[in-house]
Amino acid sequence: MKINKSPWIHQLDHTRKSSVLSTDLDTDIAIIGAGIAGISTAFFLLKYTKYRAVIFEQGKLAHGATGHNAGQVVARFERPLYELVEEFGLEKTKKALQDLRSSWVLLDEMYTDANLSILFSRVSGVRGFSDLNQVLGTLKDLEIEHIAGLNPNKMLIQDKAPFRGLLPKAYENLFEFVSHEEILKKLETDNKDFHAVVIDQAACINSALFCQEVAGYLLKKFPDRFFIYENTHIIKTVLKQNHVLLDAGKHTVHAHKVVLCTNGFEKLDILNESGLEVDKRFHHNVIGKVGYMSGYLENLNKAGAAIAYYTKDSDPAHDDPYYYLTRRPHEMGDEKHNLVCVGGPEVAINDREEYLNDYDYPDKIPGDIDAFIKKVYDPDPNRKIDYQFTWHGLMGYTPNRVRLIGAEPKNSVLLYNLGCNGIGIIPSIFGGRKIARIIAGEKLEESIFDPRVDAKS
Ligand SMILES: Cc1cc2nc3c(=O)[nH]c(=O)nc-3n(C[C@H](O)[C@H](O)[C@H](O)COP(=O)(O)OP(=O)(O)OC[C@H]3O[C@@H](n4cnc5c(N)ncnc54)[C@H](O)[C@@H]3O)c2cc1C
Repeated sequence: MKINKSPWIHQLDHTRKSSVLSTDLDTDIAIIGAGIAGISTAFFLLKYTKYRAVIFEQGKLAHGATGHNAGQVVARFERPLYELVEEFGLEKTKKALQDLRSSWVLLDEMYTDANLSILFSRVSGVRGFSDLNQVLGTLKDLEIEHIAGLNPNKMLIQDKAPFRGLLPKAYENLFEFVSHEEILKKLETDNKDFHAVVIDQAACINSALFCQEVAGYLLKKFPDRFFIYENTHIIKTVLKQNHVLLDAGKHTVHAHKVVLCTNGFEKLDILNESGLEVDKRFHHNVIGKVGYMSGYLENLNKAGAAIAYYTKDSDPAHDDPYYYLTRRPHEMGDEKHNLVCVGGPEVAINDREEYLNDYDYPDKIPGDIDAFIKKVYDPDPNRKIDYQFTWHGLMGYTPNRVRLIGAEPKNSVLLYNLGCNGIGIIPSIFGGRKIARIIAGEKLEESIFDPRVDAKS
């Protein structure tokens, strides 16, 4: 068995001082959860409103999914766009895509305001496909991106692809043929199973370190309006008509609004004393999945990379995991190495409370990841890879795989910025900005991120 050891947590400042809630408290906005969603929500609230905000974190800052991901920044959904169009219509899907793309600027805004110098490597995000279904699904999505005015890059397909004759004429403007060598070069593999690639904007970041640094900046910049309490578990929230009470065990917090940035609904009861019961059935439908990753160091002789490999067994329309890899210089004052992180295997858990951060890492999974690396990325049979890091994190999937951002329809003192859904860094930041807008009183148009009374179950 291996322990849960993430390179992102490893790089945090372990001497940083934290505070536990030790008294009753009154604030304007209570934020539950200090991952990328909670920190981004605090950032935009403090910058664009005059409200006081306090974050409550049951463990340590950025030790949830934010400290256990792949560190790949992409403005995408973890669900085929054509399915979103079926569910929400083209206009709302277009707007949502544009919203996510515009969030690159929000990330830059946080980085610049906080005057950060931590590594933020912009890279090409390459997705490689090995069969016709994957290619057709992705072409359908590229067509939607095209209609949304996002100018997606054309898909590159190898000129002797076994399915070349089956590519529909209607998509001809969305792809072009290149040599197989070029496809394999882009995917940094010799494995001839891959026949097509799409390249988008991407970046690699340690999102936990990013949260630590932005939190430090906010604490300094807004000493009278902001604080973070760690090791402070909120057990229950009681929603009243114009305010909310949070039960933090020995202490009670009174706030005007509460924003759940909890990834899902971990160990938190919500009682709506002012109106209809907040839909427990929906809350329980946030499904927990544990994602596993391994990481190792290699020589610093390649540029940064973010590559997703859809092998023959991965079907994005049917929720099958694919392998993904990020490569970036290792940020430990060691300028001689790249850190390669690879993930893919996921295990659904029945009861989200089953998951514990310090669970060991099961034996089979590093073997599966190693076999993938040997087959696709690093086939040298004489090289035994020494994995310095093996880690796992909890992903909370909403039933329709769209992040939930906005006010609870049954009582607007409760707001959400949650639902990890596999790709969560950019959506969390977008969610933070949107929550600040809602709290500032802006009237926003309807969107696919809105919490709905009739949420799909
Ligand atoms: C293996 C893996 C790989 C991933 N790879 C990527 C990737 O490459 N790119 C990408 O964009 N996304 C990726 N993700 C998803 C991304 O990491 C998450 O979507 C994002 O970090 C979620 O941030 P968050 O703040 O919503 O949740 P979290 O970081 O989980 O933060 C939620 C916090 O809420 C706290 N909390 C919960 N309940 C309570 C309570 N009752 N009281 C007090 N505190 C509470 C938790 O302790 C936790 O710290 C990956 C996730 C995993 C697990």
